[in-house]
Amino acid sequence: MASRVTFIGAGNMASAIIGGMIDNGFSPSAITATSPSDAFLAPVHERFGIHTNTDNAAAVGQADVVVLAVKPQMMRDVCEGLRDVVQRRRPLIISVAAGLPAEALEHWLGGDLAVVRCMPNTPSLVGAGAAGLFANANVSDEQRRLATELLEAVGLVEWVEEESLLDAVTAVSGSGPAYFFLMLEAMEDAGVSLGLPAETARRLAMQTALGAAKMAQQSDKTPAELKRNVMSPGGTTERAIEHLESAGLRRIMGEALEACAARAREMA
Ligand code: NAP
Repeated sequence: MASRVTFIGAGNMASAIIGGMIDNGFSPSAITATSPSDAFLAPVHERFGIHTNTDNAAAVGQADVVVLAVKPQMMRDVCEGLRDVVQRRRPLIISVAAGLPAEALEHWLGGDLAVVRCMPNTPSLVGAGAAGLFANANVSDEQRRLATELLEAVGLVEWVEEESLLDAVTAVSGSGPAYFFLMLEAMEDAGVSLGLPAETARRLAMQTALGAAKMAQQSDKTPAELKRNVMSPGGTTERAIEHLESAGLRRIMGEALEACAARAREMA
């Protein structure tokens, strides 16, 4: 990768992606991150050896890719402040902000730009993220490849061809970590009720979640087949799964994800 990448915002999400890029061989000297405060940027410079700048427009002046990684409520002001330099330089714009449509970002930046909108999730912070990406019509194949390469530095990347599908991505993976945290809480509580120490139940539940996900990723079998494989007739797993099915787990998950996607639509 020879592109120069500027991150506007140097917080959690930007730091996660920068760390992943460097681990994947991207040169720190080709990366710049900005933030309003020098005090905040000093440790970022120290940790990654990248360029830092408190002046957003100056940092974008040399960039091929601009990653917008500020909080959604800051985004309009930040984009309007970048309009002139972005219109001159015309970099690929990648936004990781939740809920802001590509058209709004493009409009705030002066129009007619290549914009990729990304819906990441919090496991990106530990290199195990899952992100949905949407490209507007101005994004070239080469820019798609570049966006994939940058975001794959912190996990899985899946492209969607309609922007509205990012609401479904939000429902599955954006908010998804919390569903599994709830499951871990519930399994720990149940383990404690059955007599295990809380820490033991928690560690067993966490490792089981990790192991199940790894098995599902590495196997050529579907999750349904893997589940059947661990359910011997009349056995313990079958008893638990029958209980979950008859208690309506599938319906509950369907309704929860529909509510999540509806909320994402309301917030856009
Ligand atoms: P964060 O840690 O608060 O980082 C935001 C950064 O933006 C801070 O470094 C902040 O600096 C900087 N900033 C504020 N105003 C700025 C300006 N005018 N110019 C340049 N930088 C400015 O937030 P985050 O968690 O990384 O979230 C960033 C974006 O990622 C959000 O839009 C969020 O929707 C999206 N996202 C995050 C996650 C996640 O897991 N964290 C998941 C999905 C999506 P100061 O601290 O000095 O103000």
